[in-house]
Amino acid sequence: MGKEILVTGSSRGIGKEIALYLAENGFDIVLHCRNNLQQAQEVQKLIQKTGQKSRILQFDVKDRKKCFEIITEDIKQNGAYFGVVLNAGIAMDNVFPIMTESEWDDVIDTNLGGFYNVLRPVIMPMIENRIKGRIVTLSSISGLRGNRGQVNYSASKAGIIGATKALALELAKRGITVNCVAPGVIESDMTKELPVDEVKKLIPMKRIGTGREVASLVNYLMGEDSSYITGQVISVNGGLYS
Ligand code: NDP
Repeated sequence: MGKEILVTGSSRGIGKEIALYLAENGFDIVLHCRNNLQQAQEVQKLIQKTGQKSRILQFDVKDRKKCFEIITEDIKQNGAYFGVVLNAGIAMDNVFPIMTESEWDDVIDTNLGGFYNVLRPVIMPMIENRIKGRIVTLSSISGLRGNRGQVNYSASKAGIIGATKALALELAKRGITVNCVAPGVIESDMTKELPVDEVKKLIPMKRIGTGREVASLVNYLMGEDSSYITGQVISVNGGLYS
């Protein structure tokens, strides 16, 4: 059987590019979405063209019970995953003095809560099957540095960095690596409202990044050649705040 990787939030954006890139490099993909099943099915068709296998799971990463049930059942049917890319995430920007409870809670519960909800049911089967697997989490430059209007998002993404480093220490002796990719500004629905021309001026490379440029690093971290890299945060940012 091929090596299978769960990519959360792979119906669109960076997650879609990661799923396609990994499939092009010989991995089978467990696609995942919350609402956009049709878009996930389009991604599945593209993966079929690479010759790799894929299936789709649908659940809200905030929903702990559903995450556990669906992931556990999928592993029971198909076996433990080789890898997971914890990509699904949201931003709900607002300045802190007027940030609503739901803007705080939804972002923390999705981005950081998703770490526990998705990875907890995945890790034990990986250990039991002695898989020297790979976990890659998605943080952000906003989690490394903090960003105005993103106190909630920065907190969630900084939390992911801490959780990634701690989990890397716990799993190191099993040969499972846990690393974090921290993108700068990348083309996707999340960034489509940004004033692109203004943003580009701040980036040393004077352009926004692509999902594929993030995906190539994730693919490296999933491969044999990265087996001694763990607990690291690597930024893909065109030189922004490096
Ligand atoms: P998009 O908004 O384009 O896509 C988000 C994806 O996550 C979708 O597949 C969506 O599923 C899924 N998702 C969102 N919320 C949930 C949820 N509660 N449960 C399950 N799935 C969910 O985002 P990007 O591709 O831009 O971002 C991907 C990751 O990269 C995120 O973690 C983001 O924080 C991070 N990042 C992005 C940057 C950027 O510049 N774009 C910069 C730094 C980090 P559905 O389609 O079903 O809604």
